[in-house]
Amino acid sequence: MRQALVIANWKLNGDTALLKDMAEHFHHVDIQEQVNVVICPPAVYLKTAAVLFEPSGIELGGQNCSEYGSGAYTGEISAEMLRDIGCEYVLIGHSERRALFAETDEMVAGKIKQAQQCNLRPVLCVGETLAEREANAVESVIRGQLEKALGEADFNNLVIAYEPVWAIGTGKTATPEQAQEVHKMIRDWVASKAPESAQKLQILYGGSVKADNASTLFHQADIDGGLIGGASLDTEQFDAICQAA
Ligand code: PGA
Repeated sequence: MRQALVIANWKLNGDTALLKDMAEHFHHVDIQEQVNVVICPPAVYLKTAAVLFEPSGIELGGQNCSEYGSGAYTGEISAEMLRDIGCEYVLIGHSERRALFAETDEMVAGKIKQAQQCNLRPVLCVGETLAEREANAVESVIRGQLEKALGEADFNNLVIAYEPVWAIGTGKTATPEQAQEVHKMIRDWVASKAPESAQKLQILYGGSVKADNASTLFHQADIDGGLIGGASLDTEQFDAICQAA
């Protein structure tokens, strides 16, 4: 059985008060046995988060890392630095980074490599746009993203998040059947590359997951948890989503 995993992606939101609120709340809630909970706050809060979350068992992730190691790369944050301050995970290739910050498949592949070299677990985000779905191109788009990002990857130290772009922050969630279909396709693709890893690999769904739709999504055979944006900024709602996993 795969362990359930719920990851909060705060994006460019949150503050010290929210960190404290989450840390306090999850210190008193015993969910760690059934589900691993990871919070990815903006990078400037990671160090504070590492201290505050320690008693709760919540793990930490970065929202991005550099495709480079150390060096003259002003403004970048390396995978090694994330690891150094206590991160276990890093989101890679989120659709907002691809669309708004011109992140290419090659950059995504470089970041995956950096993360794995530093023993950080990359969470590779893949997903199709609405136009691609309407053109019946879901499978080819996702396969293309996987092929380009994971050519040299270690499938034993990886999480994949399926996030249909049309469902992110829109309130439109993929139906459990739509999501399961893509998750199964992703797992079958992994099985074709690394048969011994496919059944162990956690594949998360992301895109307008809320407390009231999490349970049916998470109960699909190939959905192992969620990557949560907006709803992860509300402590009660995020807790309810974790409980559903
Ligand atoms: P959302 O974001 O839950 O607000 O749709 C998910 C994500 O972008 O990871």
